[in-house]
Amino acid sequence: MTRKFRVGILGATGVVGQRFIQLLEGHPQFDVTALAASDRSQGKSYAEACTWRLPGDMPESVRSISVQAPAPPLDCDLVFSSLPGDIAAQAEEEFARAGYPVITNSSPHRMSPDVPLMIPEVNPDHVGLIEVQRKRRGYDRGFIVTNPNCSAIAIVLALAPLHTKFGVTSCVVTTMQALSGAGYPGVPSLDATDNVIPFIGGEEEKVEAETMKLLGRLDGGSIQPAAMTVSAQCNRVNVTDGHMASIRVKLAQTASLMDIRDTLASFSALPQQLQLHSAPRRPVIVRDEKDRPQPRLDRDAGNGMSVTVGRIVPDSVFDYRFVALGHNTIRGAAGAAILNAELLVARGYL
Ligand code: NAP
Repeated sequence: MTRKFRVGILGATGVVGQRFIQLLEGHPQFDVTALAASDRSQGKSYAEACTWRLPGDMPESVRSISVQAPAPPLDCDLVFSSLPGDIAAQAEEEFARAGYPVITNSSPHRMSPDVPLMIPEVNPDHVGLIEVQRKRRGYDRGFIVTNPNCSAIAIVLALAPLHTKFGVTSCVVTTMQALSGAGYPGVPSLDATDNVIPFIGGEEEKVEAETMKLLGRLDGGSIQPAAMTVSAQCNRVNVTDGHMASIRVKLAQTASLMDIRDTLASFSALPQQLQLHSAPRRPVIVRDEKDRPQPRLDRDAGNGMSVTVGRIVPDSVFDYRFVALGHNTIRGAAGAAILNAELLVARGYL
């Protein structure tokens, strides 16, 4: 049997940290051996420090692990990070410098020119930036790899097949984002109930910039952003999990409605070919019912790793419009980072 990698989780007690622990339970390649969180939790066992908020029990295997500070050294071969942005910036660099691969879903390093921002189905070749990063920063074994913002990942998984085949020249997106996207306790209940909040700090900028980097091309050691315009408006809605996005696209080439539908429905990529453990059989699921996708019905599709697309119709201003939905803490966070790690193993970076 091949040796499992020992992993640490930074921000282990939070919404995304708990998802990491849930998704890594019984994983064939990774064993959780170290956990880190704030000084509120440090020195306690994970069972004492963490109020488990996912269905089912906290896995037995992590209950007695002592929570540490998010600083090297930790007893692990690599770290998954779900630290708050202001803490992640420095902590992740310290780990990379100390020789740990850092696979993060925090935002500070996503747009750095030498850091891969990856979705394995979309831009697996961007992994090549690791060499550029190591050389530029003088890292030895360590590096930082990021996954996108929780809305951007669902949007880009739906755009990528269309961009490859027909060229997306512009795209207007309106998101409806779940409460769990704000962490725990997140949005106060009196703000969330019976309400929609048309502002999520920094989110619109992230969706716009990350979409162009993700769909961009690795060229001579840097990413040339995709030549498209992206406009995003982001709203917080009263849903627990599942980010939805209404998307309108203009295309460079003519495509029929059936072309669009079939291109999305038949999309399959490297993680499916490699049969990576967390890869869904279908990264994009097309639903033809007139009232799908819906967060409660569709967020768990493909174990939370598939993006569900529906309402594909011609648009009177753009060429086509449709709705995409993804699970924000699985495909949008912990599951995305784990799939990145599985790709890194397959490509020999771990
Ligand atoms: P959260 O529920 O608020 O959890 C934050 C975690 O960070 C907790 O483990 C917390 O530990 C720890 N932490 C807080 N302050 C710290 C400090 N000063 N030093 C060390 N650790 C500290 O947040 P979350 O939703 O899991 O989000 C975590 C990160 O993932 C953020 O960067 C977020 O932007 C990103 N993200 C979230 C989602 C999502 O859907 N929620 C999706 C994509 C990306 P204590 O329990 O000890 O306080």
